[in-house]
Amino acid sequence: MTETVPTDPRAEADRGRIALWLDPDDLRWLARHCRCPDDAEQDVRDRCARLRFRAGAALHKSGL
Ligand SMILES: [Zn+2]
Repeated sequence: MTETVPTDPRAEADRGRIALWLDPDDLRWLARHCRCPDDAEQDVRDRCARLRFRAGAALHKSGL
C-alpha cells in the first residue's frame, strides 16, 4: 500500500489544477458513477475512470 501524500496546493496549481470541494455523499456517488455506453470512446472512458478514481482517493484520504 502506498503512502498517502498530502496535496500540495502549489504543485497542483502548477499543473493547472483547481480545487473542488464536494460533500462525501457526492464523492461516493461520483466514485461509483459510470454510465459510459459500451461504444464510448477510449478518452471518455479514461476521463470517467480518472474522475472516479480521484473521487475515491479523496474519500480515502479523508478517512471516509
Ligand atoms: Zn464511465
